[in-house]
Amino acid sequence: MKIRRIVLLLAVLPVLATGLAFAARLVDEYKSGIVWPEPALVDPGMAGSGDAPGKAPSDAIVLFGGENLDAWEGGEKWKIVNGVATAAGGGITTKQGFGDCQVHVEFATPDKVEGSGQGRGNSGLYLMGRYEVQILDSFDNKTYFDGQCGSIYKQQPPMVNASRKPGEWQSLDVLFTAPKFAKNGDLLTPGYVTVLHNGIVVHNHFELQGSTSYTEPPKYSAHGEQEPLHIQFHGNPVRFRNIWVREAVQPLVGIPPEVQPKAEAVQELKR
Ligand code: MG
Repeated sequence: MKIRRIVLLLAVLPVLATGLAFAARLVDEYKSGIVWPEPALVDPGMAGSGDAPGKAPSDAIVLFGGENLDAWEGGEKWKIVNGVATAAGGGITTKQGFGDCQVHVEFATPDKVEGSGQGRGNSGLYLMGRYEVQILDSFDNKTYFDGQCGSIYKQQPPMVNASRKPGEWQSLDVLFTAPKFAKNGDLLTPGYVTVLHNGIVVHNHFELQGSTSYTEPPKYSAHGEQEPLHIQFHGNPVRFRNIWVREAVQPLVGIPPEVQPKAEAVQELKR
């Protein structure tokens, strides 16, 4: 009994000591001294669940909110019924270009299962119009692994197969860092993607090897800093809803202590 009490006392002593030290202000709290801008307030919206469509975050650019595909070239060929757009007649390409960004797409492959392998529920989200995150019905449908749903097409299979059944709503969330090119076209830094399929991470900061192609190995070709997103039509009536993109994906920049006197001086001069 005595030993148990001693053990218990020894266990709580460090906690007691820390508490006392705080009370007596014997410890100094670490502070970086960096002056940070206040993070902006964002209403995070909601991901869709089952048949209930979600809502985009307040700072997102809504690319398809259920009413029209006006943000896209080629959208007139797709059918929109009850807030859902069905792929038909060709792919769609955003009118606006994007560089580093976060993209959210909800999709459902046809509930009537037809075809197999790459011919079943095939679509795809192309970042900058050239880097495809594969959309496919990969529920009980084998194909080459670097071509299944969630793959970076012909570059990297998803870590796991998180596919839902045909006809069920699924989501892709993509964090993208665009590649950078020198003026002469040389690659300065590659692109990176992090992908969550139905909330499950399937790529974690994957280094893109270049554009994704059916016929050619991956390779980089210089392009603009902002390029359109594209959603593929591969002959299958894949359905889409709640598509949005956020561009505020850069870390906040604070003013470090050694620069603050200068920054204050600049502020003074401005006044
Ligand atoms: Mg595809």
